[in-house]
Amino acid sequence: MYEPLQRILEESSRIVFFGGAGVSTESGIPDFRSENGLYQATHVYGRSPEEIVSHSFFCGHMDDFFAYYKNNMIFPNAKPNKAHLALAELERMGKLTAIITQNIDGLHQMAGNQSVFELHGSVLRNYCMDCKTGYGLDYILDPAHCTAPGREEKNIPFCEKCGGVVRPDVVLYQESLDDSVIEGAVSAIEKADTLIVGGTSLVVYPAAGLLQYFQGKHLVLINRAVTPYDGKADLVLHEAIGEVLGACVL
Ligand code: ZN
Repeated sequence: MYEPLQRILEESSRIVFFGGAGVSTESGIPDFRSENGLYQATHVYGRSPEEIVSHSFFCGHMDDFFAYYKNNMIFPNAKPNKAHLALAELERMGKLTAIITQNIDGLHQMAGNQSVFELHGSVLRNYCMDCKTGYGLDYILDPAHCTAPGREEKNIPFCEKCGGVVRPDVVLYQESLDDSVIEGAVSAIEKADTLIVGGTSLVVYPAAGLLQYFQGKHLVLINRAVTPYDGKADLVLHEAIGEVLGACVL
């Protein structure tokens, strides 16, 4: 059904996949800038989702930040979909060398991928801002960890060792990306023979900038909507990423 893509997958041995929010929507994780996230943000807090998920809002309105974050950005029951499973299979086959993702849900690792560069961090990792102790997702979701003597807030998770605030290891707006993650992503793209870009409109920083490091043979774009890079790609599929990759690999 997708013969041109199947041919490319067959002849490639160093595939890199670059993915965005569209990869996880088929797992029931909406883009936080989508309708519901937008509604919640503007209706409840009178701000845009991007404002709420920003460093300054986090610092100035921590309780509201965590309330919004837990309600709109955490999906503990989400499972990998066909896109994740197909990419994991490509890595097992020795064809895929890295995944670079803008998503923070950890679903690629859950599907079995080992080499994943998470540009925006992961909701599964959290750390105390004072003593740096690491915590899982369950810890910050447990209301028992979200109360502290003398504090009225009910949504902020506190460190059980030192009482500091436990924050997600997620890159907020106004915060910079991790240099080592960027370097790893650039290096993987530079060595790739095929770059598959999926589920992203390629307008969010640093997606577009990273693409320029690709010197390989095949640039494939799989996205429901048109992207500014469609004209530069060797193959463009305006379809759901899970359907396409699932049909080709699984
Ligand atoms: Zn601590």
